[in-house]
Amino acid sequence: MKLKGTNKNPKRIGLMGGTFNPIHIGHLVTAEEAFFQFNLDEIIFVPSGKPPHKTDRDIASAEDRYLMAVIATASNPHFTVSRIEIDRVGPSYTVDTLREMKRIYGVDTELFFITGADAIIEILTWKDPEIIADLCQFIAATRPGYSLRKFEELHLVGNRKLPKVHFMEIPALAISSTDIRLRVKEGRPVKYLVPEGVDQYLKKRGLYKEHE
Ligand code: ATP
Ligand code: MG
Repeated sequence: MKLKGTNKNPKRIGLMGGTFNPIHIGHLVTAEEAFFQFNLDEIIFVPSGKPPHKTDRDIASAEDRYLMAVIATASNPHFTVSRIEIDRVGPSYTVDTLREMKRIYGVDTELFFITGADAIIEILTWKDPEIIADLCQFIAATRPGYSLRKFEELHLVGNRKLPKVHFMEIPALAISSTDIRLRVKEGRPVKYLVPEGVDQYLKKRGLYKEHE
């Protein structure tokens, strides 16, 4: 087994990016499994600021999404939440976040960007995929309902430099923030789909309800 974060072994940091609108146990299970399977030193959740690709009206404020991420991760000693994308002015690109993380934690730090299988397929549509490939590796969690075949086919097209991707199997969790928002709107339960504290926060702030 490899030693963690010693001088000889650079620190291994997992980054879990997302809208987290709201954070749910699918995110937490995925991050914990990556921590374990890839022998990481810590996981940093990075809630997005104003997501450039999401425009729907029922997106909670960045501050609410950040606070729910803090509540959800508080009890785990190797989970933290970063404000890096929330505090940035203008759109957040993954490439900028990766550069900033290298600046904060040192150039030797190994960054692992953790995503669900649905997100990995979009990698090539992100800004500067070739630069991203130099800054981090990816850990793609197999998520129910998403085929990996599309991504595998991308590797066969041309000889473009693509980021290194490790695939990771996680227990099937058909949980999504979209479904949770719908449940809240329709008055159906979200108990056990989100951590208890997040459930309480949603109710306290009246988030995702039809009439706010
Ligand atoms: P939405 O339905 O609003 O898109 P989401 O549940 O997909 O929300 P995001 O914040 O978009 O959550 O996702 C953040 C990251 O977590 C993405 O990489 C996504 O693929 C991954 N992810 C989300 N839900 C799961 C799940 N149940 N299992 C594994 N990975 C997940
Ligand atoms: Mg999503």
